[in-house]
Parts: sequence; structure tokens; C-alpha cells
Amino acid sequence: MTSTRREMIGGLAMGTAALGAAAVSGCTRVNAAAGTIAPVAGAAPPAVIQAPTDLTPAQALARLEQGNVEFLRGEQRPESTSAKRRLELAAGQAPFAAYVTCSDSRVPPELLFGRGLGELFIIRNAGNTVDTVALGSVEYAVGVLGVPLVVVMGHESCGAVKAAVDVVENNATFPGQIGRMIEPIIPAVLNSRENGKVSLENAVRSNVRRVVDYLRNQTDPLMQKPLADGRLRIVGAYYDLSTGEVDFFDRD
Ligand SMILES: [Zn+2]
Repeated sequence: MTSTRREMIGGLAMGTAALGAAAVSGCTRVNAAAGTIAPVAGAAPPAVIQAPTDLTPAQALARLEQGNVEFLRGEQRPESTSAKRRLELAAGQAPFAAYVTCSDSRVPPELLFGRGLGELFIIRNAGNTVDTVALGSVEYAVGVLGVPLVVVMGHESCGAVKAAVDVVENNATFPGQIGRMIEPIIPAVLNSRENGKVSLENAVRSNVRRVVDYLRNQTDPLMQKPLADGRLRIVGAYYDLSTGEVDFFDRD
């Protein structure tokens, strides 16, 4: 780890004032490198210590699955967005899952799982890929906030994956940075071909598997240690727009 990155993580930790002892001890690289985490120049002073969630990876996944059932029943939890809850969370956050999914307006994770303020740490971009920024965000959720679960979710009729399919099948090109944005999806499309043909759903699931594998195979102890200790699970999911159901198909 570079000193710049070390300082960034330490600074983020102190800046959020949301570090619990378990989160710190689970983040050996940060501890080992920095001894104790000290604020860097300009960082906000720590005010409140917020312990990370005590949910296990299995309990966190079960909470999402139950939430999706309640979403399908039309049940809502107004207390999860109440003023009381908002004020509680002003002191610090302890989300129980990090969520990587598409920017598509039809797939907001909080709504699909009936979650409220402070429960999900979400990274979204068209095609749910993980670049440096997204990886750093996941590492922050795991190493600093102590989430026990990371979900990568694709969805039916994903326009970004469809664009990557068009590149493979029709040599399509796209304006601006859209072409570069979907480049990481192309290997997943190629892997999903059967008899030379691509089904969009298979390509979406292949893209999810690719991102999940990428996260599971990170070599930094920040991710590897909690994975090896069973304190972290990374799963892949597929959302069906019409039924509203989330299929957690890549559970490890
Ligand atoms: Zn999409």
C-alpha cells in the first residue's frame, strides 16, 4: 500500500467519525501500516464512535431476501426514513451491505429491498462494473465501515450490457465515453456466447460473475482477510424487472 493510500484510508476513517473497534481490527493493513490511525492534516476530528453492524454475512443476505419479499407484497417501513432515524444516523453510519448495481432508474436497491437510511452503501454506474473508484468504494465499505456483505447485481434489459452485445455482434460504436465505459463488459459478453449467439440475460449474468470474481480475487488483505475469516461474503444477483424478484444466483 502506498503512503498516499494509507493516509487516504486513515483520513476517511477519521473524517467519517464512524470507526468501530471491530472495523479497525478487521482492517489489518491499515492498522499494521499506520500503527494507530491518526488524523491527517485537514481531516475532521473524530466525534462519535459507531460500531459496525453485528450481522453475519448470512444474516445480511437474509435481510435483503426478506426485504425483497416485502417489496413484492407492497409493504413499506416508514420508520426507516423518519426524522428520528435521520438524526440517529447523523452521528455515524453502520450499513450492513455494500451494493454494486446499475444506474438504471428501475433498479434502486433501497426500494427493491425495503431499506431505509443508513442501511446500504451503494455504488452505481451503467453496467455495474468496478473500476478503481468503485473498488475503492467497496474497500472503504468493507475495511472501514465493516460491512459483512457485498452484492453485485445486474438486471433484465440492461442497456449498458445490450450496448456491449451490439459491439460484439455488430461492431457498434458509441459517442463520448460510452464506448470506453462498456469495454469491461465485452469479455463477459464473449464468455456468455453459446453456439455463436448471445442472450442478453446470459450476458448480464456473465458480467455479474466477472465482477464478483474480480472482487473475490482482490489480493489486498483489506478484502482477503475478512473473506478468509468468513466475516465477508461477496454474492452476485440478477433483478427481473417484470416480476420484481431478485435472484441471488452466485452465492460463492
Ligand atoms: Zn443496466
